[in-house]
Amino acid sequence: MDANKKWWEKPVRMLRVDYAPNFAAIKEEDLDALARSRREDWQINCEWIVGTPGFTGGGYCTTFKATGYELCTGFENFDYLRSYTPYAHKYSIKVIAYLNMHWYPYEFAEAHPGWEQITGNGQSYGRVNPLYGNGTTFCVNSPWREWAFGLMQEAMKTGIDGIFLDGPVIFPDCCCCSSCQQKFQMQYGQAIPEEDWMNPIWKSFLEFREDSLAGFLSDAQKRVQEISPDGVIFLNAGSWGPGGWRIARDIQKTGPFQNFNGAEAFFHYGKYQNIYGALMTGKYLRAGNKPAVVFTHYMNGKWHYLNLPPGEVKLALAQTAAAGTNPWWALINSSLASQPQSNEPIRDMCSLLEKHEEYLIDAESQAEVGLLFSTQTNRNYLSRIEALYEITESGKEENLIVNMETERKVDWPARKKQCEELLHSAYLGYFHALTRAHIPFDILLDQDLITERLSRYKTLILVDAACLKEAAAAAIKEFVQQGGNLLASFEAGLYDDQGDPITALQEVIGIDKVDGLFPVTMGENYLHINNGHLGYGQGSLIERGAYVLRVQAANDTETPARYLEPIDKVYSPLKGISSYPAVIIHKYGLGKAAYFPEAIGHFFWETGMISAEDRISRMVRELNGPSIIEAEAPKTLSLEIYKQRKRNRIIIHLVNNTVDSRPVNQFLPLSEVRLILNLSEKPRKVYSLIENNDLESCTKEGAFHIKVPRLSIYDIIVLDM
Ligand SMILES: [Zn+2]
Repeated sequence: MDANKKWWEKPVRMLRVDYAPNFAAIKEEDLDALARSRREDWQINCEWIVGTPGFTGGGYCTTFKATGYELCTGFENFDYLRSYTPYAHKYSIKVIAYLNMHWYPYEFAEAHPGWEQITGNGQSYGRVNPLYGNGTTFCVNSPWREWAFGLMQEAMKTGIDGIFLDGPVIFPDCCCCSSCQQKFQMQYGQAIPEEDWMNPIWKSFLEFREDSLAGFLSDAQKRVQEISPDGVIFLNAGSWGPGGWRIARDIQKTGPFQNFNGAEAFFHYGKYQNIYGALMTGKYLRAGNKPAVVFTHYMNGKWHYLNLPPGEVKLALAQTAAAGTNPWWALINSSLASQPQSNEPIRDMCSLLEKHEEYLIDAESQAEVGLLFSTQTNRNYLSRIEALYEITESGKEENLIVNMETERKVDWPARKKQCEELLHSAYLGYFHALTRAHIPFDILLDQDLITERLSRYKTLILVDAACLKEAAAAAIKEFVQQGGNLLASFEAGLYDDQGDPITALQEVIGIDKVDGLFPVTMGENYLHINNGHLGYGQGSLIERGAYVLRVQAANDTETPARYLEPIDKVYSPLKGISSYPAVIIHKYGLGKAAYFPEAIGHFFWETGMISAEDRISRMVRELNGPSIIEAEAPKTLSLEIYKQRKRNRIIIHLVNNTVDSRPVNQFLPLSEVRLILNLSEKPRKVYSLIENNDLESCTKEGAFHIKVPRLSIYDIIVLDM
């Protein structure tokens, strides 16, 4: 049944080895031996080779013969793509050429007036913000696009299997070049506006940027397929971060025109560490509903001439595979002189993935919870609550209204940044709380908010903010009416897709009226349980987060907890119980909605507060009822559950994220992980593919129990039904 699948629809394991800074050094290699080593020592089946080297090698020059394009120094007598591809194919390795599409030297730009991206105040983006310290960037709507398409076609003529475009990127505050001005005027009948979040035309401009990038990719794909009907093309689709709108990335728009959705999940030293970096990126990409690749730099953070410690590689590979996505690694060849064993963690894992390929194909997630990651919210969410921008904390007052000499002017960029940070924490908070509670969930995109898609879930979660299209709000309403559950918090569902206030979901959630915000203070504020709720006894005091709405509940709701009156100083005496609910539970149609007026995802991510984490996971459990799978295991176990319909089996991926530190030195093994499955029939056979020989299983009180004796890093448990 897999014979009809194209190669990119089956599991792919990608590697890119650069000969930077001297790319021409590849000429000295024995190409047959090299391709064989990629296959045997790295166990990959797809290799990226450089077609245009980017900022270290000229930007516009090629490593292969391309009519009308200039060759890179050192490649005058060596056509890299045409020379290497036959060897790669001999060892069943597909070849993708990397084409730089975002960095060009200034002299090249000067020879091509009108190609550069121009900022809002008319300057060349690359002169104001030199790329990598030196160089500029071109516009997808300018005549450069024909030059780019021509280059792609020349690359495809060499016999490679596809191309990866590194860029183009529509940079922040771009593009206002004459081509864009003209195109925008034609489409919208107006000039490109300045940043003003109350001006609908500004939002049209943001969409115009995304559509321009998608339009470029769509035309590029057509041109590639003219040369090679099965030619693969893709670019960096962007990840889940709410800042993606700044560079006009939206996988929903570019996805239809590329073979893979790919995004970066690089490890960085010293910054905050998201233990689920690869898992979260993978699950986000999986939501795009097409083959996906998680890009994991093998380079050791900013120490590019060395590679990551093996523990980081193993963690990322396990999470990438568990998410149902493909791995990709990049390194610099010279690193192998100091670290000749760099291939080992990749070889070991990739050989397992190859061996068990049949368990990875056509695996459909069985998650019963959908968590919305909304790109239109990322782009257009800007809270209309003025008090949100007035933060009182340890005596420090910040007000993001700048007092100009004659007028009070809103600092839009600062406000937008604050809302973006809030959303960023909300995604991380919910993702962590659900993963750590072993609640299987899918990430949903805006395009999934339709009745047909929603109906396969028991519970839909809207994180601390969500801007919804009218049709999406109607679909959510119908979903709950028909028996679905909704969990929402803070400002989720209070805005339309353009960011204007709406009341469409208030009826579902059971909100009568929003009275504004409690003063924003992190610390010394609480909620009080007035009726037993989520396992907390009557009278319990529980920590609350910084951002909390004062909301009046509708009459037909339950409000088992209320906020205390606000306290603005630490150690001040507690005040009485306010009239404002800390949770609203509302039966609506055949379903139920639960609502926290608090930015609870943000609160959990920013503080790690256990009560916030528990409130999220317990509420989802209460709404969901018995789950298809539960685990008795430490919270650091993550699990994904899939079904292979045609083969009638259930596949469970288990990842042990219990590590000593970041970067990972050591995994601390788990023992006796117990999985409890609620299935309609008893499995015929249960087995582990990787780490365990024997699994004990039994049926107890109608549920199917599996004992996994040990989990070091990664295992796949199979249930033949
Ligand atoms: Zn432009």
